[in-house]
Amino acid sequence: MTMRRVAILGSTGSIGTTALRVLSRQRERFCVSALTAFSNAALLREQEVEFRPAFVGLVNNGASEHAAWESGRSCLIAAATRDDVDIVLNAVVGAAGLDATLAALECGKRVALANKETLVMAGHLVHAARARGGGELVPVDSEHSAILQCITGRTGVEVRRVILTASGGPFRQWSSEKIERATLTDALQHPTWRMGRKITVDSATLANKALEVIEAHHLFGLSFDQIDVVVHPQSVIHSFVEFVDGSVLAQLGVPSMELPVLYALTHPERVPDTGVPPFDPVESSPMTFERVRVADFPALALGVAAGRRGGAAPAVFNAANEEAVSLFIDGRIRFGDIPGAIESALEALGEWNGDSRDAILAADEAARRHVRTRFQC
Ligand code: NAD
Ligand code: MG
Repeated sequence: MTMRRVAILGSTGSIGTTALRVLSRQRERFCVSALTAFSNAALLREQEVEFRPAFVGLVNNGASEHAAWESGRSCLIAAATRDDVDIVLNAVVGAAGLDATLAALECGKRVALANKETLVMAGHLVHAARARGGGELVPVDSEHSAILQCITGRTGVEVRRVILTASGGPFRQWSSEKIERATLTDALQHPTWRMGRKITVDSATLANKALEVIEAHHLFGLSFDQIDVVVHPQSVIHSFVEFVDGSVLAQLGVPSMELPVLYALTHPERVPDTGVPPFDPVESSPMTFERVRVADFPALALGVAAGRRGGAAPAVFNAANEEAVSLFIDGRIRFGDIPGAIESALEALGEWNGDSRDAILAADEAARRHVRTRFQC
């Protein structure tokens, strides 16, 4: 494998720091050309000293929110489209990562995509950018990495169905009344994964699994009827693929994002790495499975329905969820208010057109406004 040059968007976050840990062990195969972060200048500076990238971008330099969004956008695009970059790891959280994904694909780069929100809100634009620019889209999300690993290297493979595993989050066994009143501290107690706050709250509502169903639809060209979800509390099996002859493959491993990040960089090859602890089936026992409590976690069904509806509905789902989660994190709404906020935005705006980038961004903004207005913020 020749030396590949990597840009990391969101290098100070959970996925960004995991990626740099992986890259520090892979210096003969990869170098870091660009790093960007929204805040945490001190950590970014440490990363700069260690990895010596040619480009370093700090987005939030105290400017107003709008100015930060604009400068953030240009900073991410500048990093994602550099000539000295082969692979863009998009580890930004939320819709803010959209233009960088599109720009990198237009330039023919490989995008290792952790930033699932952008594929959910604008899947058809992402595909069009890839087709135009000849770029490549490889998932970082552990479930989608598992599916990719199960189908890679097989020609003429016919997939009948995929089954995404879900840990069930911290409220898997809570009563619906108790879930309604859950605090931020409760929601941040994820049983198996250590991640950024937004995705951790999404894992507690199961909105994350809805985003992942839509993500699988776009990545693997599957209809929504071909994508199921099962609760697997131990997070050892990262997903299943069922083939047309009835055979089922799965990918297993201890819950760590290091392997999916590394695989997104090396796919379809595998390279030696010492980061992931050895797998011991006995230590990983028992592995159990449960049906999703669909009625008690309504964000999942709302998101899948938005995915089926298409148009701007997935962007509305995503933006309403982002806004509601941010209000919940700020202590302004209750955990139990999140699904209602999403549902209300989808009722009001779900029919909007999502044909172009501008239409999607208009729906995104309208959904955020709708949620804020509903709670008078
Ligand atoms: P995080 O909050 O820990 O990190 C986000 C990073 O993006 C930070 O570096 C932050 O500075 C930067 N950022 C935030 N807002 C920005 C903006 N407006 N403009 C530019 N940069 C911005 O989040 P995370 O947990 O690392 O998740 C990142 C993405 O990866 C999310 O889309 C998440 O759904 C996905 N993901 C994460 C995990 C995980 O284990 N953490 C697993 C699967 C998928
Ligand atoms: Mg996942």
